[in-house]
Amino acid sequence: MAAPGNTAPGTALHKIGVDKLRGVGPMLAEKLHKLGLFTVQDLLFHLPLRYIDRTKITAIGGVQPLTEVVIEGEVRGSDIVFGRRRSLVCRVQDHSGLITLRFFHFNHAQQQSLQAGSKIRCFGEVRRGKSGLEMYHPEYQLLNQAQPPALAETLTPIYPATEGVTQQRIRDLCGQALTLLQRHGIEDWLPAGLAASNPHQNNYALVDALHLLHNPPPGTALNLLAEGEHPAQQRLACEELIAHHLSLLRLRQKIQSQGAPALPANPKASARFLEQLPFSLTAAQQRVVNEISADISQPIPMLRLVQGDVGSGKTVVAALAAVQAIANGMQAALMAPTEILAEQHRVSFEAWLAPLGIRIAWLTGKLKGKGREVQLAAIADGSAQIVIGTHALFQEGVVFNNLGLTIIDEQHRFGVHQRLALRKKGAITEDGDDSQQSTPHQLIMTATPIPRTLAMSAYADLDCSVIDELPPGRKPIETVVLNELRRNDVLERVRASCREGRQAYWVCTLIEESDVLEAQAAEATAQELQLLLSELSIGLIHGRLKPKEKVQIMEAFKAGEINLLVATTVIEVGVDVPNASLMIIENAERLGLSQLHQLRGRVGRGTQSSHCVLLYSAPLSANGGARLKIMRETNDGFKIAEKDLEIRGPGEVLGTRQTGDMQLRIADLQRDAHLLPEVKRMAFGLLQDYPDNVDPLVARWLGHSEQYGQA
Ligand code: ADP
Ligand code: MG
Repeated sequence: MAAPGNTAPGTALHKIGVDKLRGVGPMLAEKLHKLGLFTVQDLLFHLPLRYIDRTKITAIGGVQPLTEVVIEGEVRGSDIVFGRRRSLVCRVQDHSGLITLRFFHFNHAQQQSLQAGSKIRCFGEVRRGKSGLEMYHPEYQLLNQAQPPALAETLTPIYPATEGVTQQRIRDLCGQALTLLQRHGIEDWLPAGLAASNPHQNNYALVDALHLLHNPPPGTALNLLAEGEHPAQQRLACEELIAHHLSLLRLRQKIQSQGAPALPANPKASARFLEQLPFSLTAAQQRVVNEISADISQPIPMLRLVQGDVGSGKTVVAALAAVQAIANGMQAALMAPTEILAEQHRVSFEAWLAPLGIRIAWLTGKLKGKGREVQLAAIADGSAQIVIGTHALFQEGVVFNNLGLTIIDEQHRFGVHQRLALRKKGAITEDGDDSQQSTPHQLIMTATPIPRTLAMSAYADLDCSVIDELPPGRKPIETVVLNELRRNDVLERVRASCREGRQAYWVCTLIEESDVLEAQAAEATAQELQLLLSELSIGLIHGRLKPKEKVQIMEAFKAGEINLLVATTVIEVGVDVPNASLMIIENAERLGLSQLHQLRGRVGRGTQSSHCVLLYSAPLSANGGARLKIMRETNDGFKIAEKDLEIRGPGEVLGTRQTGDMQLRIADLQRDAHLLPEVKRMAFGLLQDYPDNVDPLVARWLGHSEQYGQA
């Protein structure tokens, strides 16, 4: 391939724009930019998703469904078939067998050329069709007997693509980038000294790894490549993970360089708080309280994640942190992911803090008009010492007087991206810009335990505390899995439980995440249940209710006036009514493990034994069945999280699918978990001994999509 022109030797590849490459005009450049490809370096790090093997011809008799193969043979005949869709069907035979090609889009010329007797070479995916094995829309060439075209010499890479940029085009551009790589070289930001002890670095120089992955030579182990376990892939995966790790560490450094108000412990205030608490802290709670207390007494912003299983008592730990901030004359803010949860925190905090004379403000998106202005004024003039609300807390127009501590509850409901964005906003809102010298301490709480390996990479910017003990007297929740056909038995159970003075939840779920449909389904269920259980008082709660209505219903449930609460998954997090001891979840097979665990965690909060009934409709998928089995077997959130990781993979466990961050190009957090200790060591080493390498390395991998903090 000819080298692309006019690039001065010595120019770094991240300084050469894609528009300098042969065949790239303004239109294509724009499309490439949409893929995040701005420079030649970006192309080099735009790694193939997978490879296909077009280096050999497979005998038709030996092809397997769901594989991509090259075949060669003679056309036996072509017909237009009028089925549900008109299609051109063409039978091709070689010495070993017969296969059908099927085209749904075709023209007359094509039909003509595929006449009986033509020799043809095809490439495509084999599938089982009406007439046995078929290929839909294969790529094909008619063969000129004299001189069959050469087969590919190397595995063919398949790139992540975008509309309007063909694989062929990207392959060509990456080819040009590789030529430039040869001419200009590329900086390896992982210093040899640092990598010496790294077993995954030994085999491949950066340049060789890039060449191999874009252009695997004949004989490259396709199976290793397919698994992502080729040493060249592992070399780059390690580097990518280091880059991600560094970007988080750098963010942490940046925040901590701003300084924070020192909020030393105030034993008197804490003692007063603890005295009026109806229980004493568990040892685990006390340990975490101490860790937080030590952090915020320093003039460096705390960045701490508190993990604790559902019901482990995180709220009171947060309250103690707030008390310490307030005792130092600063404000605290507590953000919850839903209005119901925010409201419940307000009730708890009022009960705990009002006796200490602490004033609470309240802010949600639905609070409007005069009410809102009153709250905003109290937040701004400092008369509110703690502010509780939803993410409305960090929206424009909210000005704190002297925010010293930000608490984010149930962080798993927010993606990693949102967490970082919120954190930044939290830091900014204090005075409207980020030129300030000091930033609030930050406490993040999550009830979804994060497997250690994931926590290490996704939360590299946070210190971590774990509440690994439940308050005394809790009995494990007994879980049964029942076919939905046994609904009547379940009704009996609800009846019996309520007769004994207990309360129950009945959760309705839908596949589609539509507030409206979900609310309708819950309404219908509530009506049906009221007919069948006419002696019970049945309440209904869903996301479409007005905040006031929600509050009233939750209060009535808490007061025991409602026996059975029919709900949508709005009650998923945080809701705390200890007398509720029976949880029914409909269509449980549709929910993910962490959501099921959260929902189930609404019971088992008192001292009586609790039960959870997971209803499913047959037939169960393999995954659905596996999830329900795990739920039946364990109450341990950490075990459930590990299983969740196995079943769903890290992207979904971290809840970042939608936000699309932590998108790894080549590394896979699960497959490459064994690299993480080394990644961590290397990242610290770089930050400490090679600080100049950090920015270019992060830019190389996270490139233009990085900007975590600015989301
Ligand atoms: P989560 O960790 O799920 O947020 P909560 O903070 O809502 O848990 O606490 C669950 C319940 O346990 C609440 O009713 C709370 O008052 C109670 N609780 C918390 N700590 C203790 C404790 N040390 N002893 C007894 N009950 C406690
Ligand atoms: Mg909670």
